[in-house]
Amino acid sequence: MYNFTGKTVIVTGGSRGIGKSIAERFAASGASVYITYKNAVDAEYFDSRGIKHSRCDVADFAEVQTFTENVIKSEGKIDILVNNAGMTKDGLLIRMSSEDWDVVMNTNAKGVFNFTKAVCRHMMSQRHGKIINISSVVGIVGNAGQANYVSSKAAVIGFTKAVAKELASRNINVNCIAPGYIDTDMTSKLSDTIKQSILESVPMKRIGSGEDVAKAVAFLASDDAGYITGQVLCVDGGMVM
Ligand code: NDP
Repeated sequence: MYNFTGKTVIVTGGSRGIGKSIAERFAASGASVYITYKNAVDAEYFDSRGIKHSRCDVADFAEVQTFTENVIKSEGKIDILVNNAGMTKDGLLIRMSSEDWDVVMNTNAKGVFNFTKAVCRHMMSQRHGKIINISSVVGIVGNAGQANYVSSKAAVIGFTKAVAKELASRNINVNCIAPGYIDTDMTSKLSDTIKQSILESVPMKRIGSGEDVAKAVAFLASDDAGYITGQVLCVDGGMVM
């Protein structure tokens, strides 16, 4: 495990699933961790682990700005940002409403813009920072029934590369993780038939865990990844290669 003692970390959407595993790994590694959520949080659970939590809709820039300013007021700095919050509203294009397009794009893509914009000036002036964006393998290969989600995740990959180029000279690494099929509330909604067919496309023949993703995030946030920027790391048991 890496040592993140003295580091301030923000994990968006850290109340459940992959974000929760990421937040717990950073907290167990000594970091001061702040998570956001949109609807509800098990406050007692996170309090007992020393993880600070706030309601903050990633799609709302004013809320994001207030949240990041409060973290800077408390900690004096933000070292690591993990843009993890995400959602799905699946359906074939023929039936997809413009509301379902907007809410997914605003959460998954604009949310990454909002948080990165809110922290980047601060990271630029401190001349270091690590930004890790959670995309998806479907943002690389596409998926029927997810035009909104796939577009949002492809946007995150493009955004990562553009911002990596902009911030590299300030010693800020911006990378992306593309998880495959991970066991969370998001995937528990899928039918057993769909789950089985996804699993058949995984060479490692197992569903991934939040911890599988959290370990890759910790690597990209560590000094060991100091010369890596603008990259997409698939954590998918070999689904996409
Ligand atoms: P979950 O649905 O289990 O958790 C989503 C988290 O995001 C929750 O904490 C939720 O908060 C938060 N969230 C959603 N919308 C907002 C918002 N507008 N503002 C703030 N927080 C929000 O998802 P996963 O853990 O499965 O997914 C995490 C990330 O990984 C997502 O970006 C997802 O797209 C990506 N991913 C997941 C894969 C998988 O197989 N699970 C595969 C590839 C990528 P609340 O509880 O309050 O709603």
